[in-house]
Amino acid sequence: MSRILFNHVYKQYGKDKSAVVKDFNLEIEDKEFVVFVGPSGCGKSTTLRMIAGLEDISKGEIYINNVLVNDLPPKDRDIAMVFQNYALYPNMSVYENIAFGLRLRKLPKHEIDIAVKRAARVLEIEPYLDRKPKQLSGGQRQRVALGRAIVRNPQVFLMDEPLSNLDAKLRVQMRSELIRLHKQLGVTTIYVTHDQTEAMTMANRIVVMKDGIIQQVDTPEEIYNSP
Ligand code: ADP
Ligand code: ADP
Repeated sequence: MSRILFNHVYKQYGKDKSAVVKDFNLEIEDKEFVVFVGPSGCGKSTTLRMIAGLEDISKGEIYINNVLVNDLPPKDRDIAMVFQNYALYPNMSVYENIAFGLRLRKLPKHEIDIAVKRAARVLEIEPYLDRKPKQLSGGQRQRVALGRAIVRNPQVFLMDEPLSNLDAKLRVQMRSELIRLHKQLGVTTIYVTHDQTEAMTMANRIVVMKDGIIQQVDTPEEIYNSP
């Protein structure tokens, strides 16, 4: 169960700067897949980072499951984030990369083992657990990055252009896998992309942003049929 509520959220980087996110109001339902689109610099990443707690909120409130998270440290938010430049630890195996966050949290070894293998099975990277990242293809590496995120069983999944470094063919393949993964895990997801097709095929709802302001919030069908 995880709903996200934005109530009149603003962000400015520095007191004398103008806001880059302005009066952002949105309610995201449990298990929804919401896609943020809009030109570069319109505030998409900033909004994700505020949800994750990586950026302060200048004004307004963000609630996750009715809990005000404005002052909650990132580690207490139960959120997993996947970026475009998914940095894997080059000297660790795939297994160790996926296990890393759980080891930091001092989970018992057998629980880590079960969680890592389950994530690897879901992402179909079980055969590569002993390999180092440089022995993997781009798509396999991206799956390891996803594995690191899902292994924590997060309430909320935030993805910032996770496929934009992949070639076109792989992007299409990973797109279907992300849709399948979302169905399977049922995690509330916010996904940032430049790619119209990604937005149209993956989203339950699309949030169109411009200059820090929400321009439109609609289903792909509504957007497709709007003038
Ligand atoms: P998008 O993800 O839509 O490309 P961003 O959220 O990254 O947009 O950026 C929104 C605006 O905030 C841009 O004008 C950007 O230059 C500015 N910005 C982003 N991060 C910082 C930062 N750490 N310090 C100052 N300005 C920033
Ligand atoms: P340590 O960090 O103590 O050296 P190990 O690397 O020996 O731990 O692994 C501990 C447990 O993690 C093992 O019992 C094994 O089940 C699991 N494990 C480690 N690496 C792999 C792997 N590549 N594939 C599957 N399981 C692994």
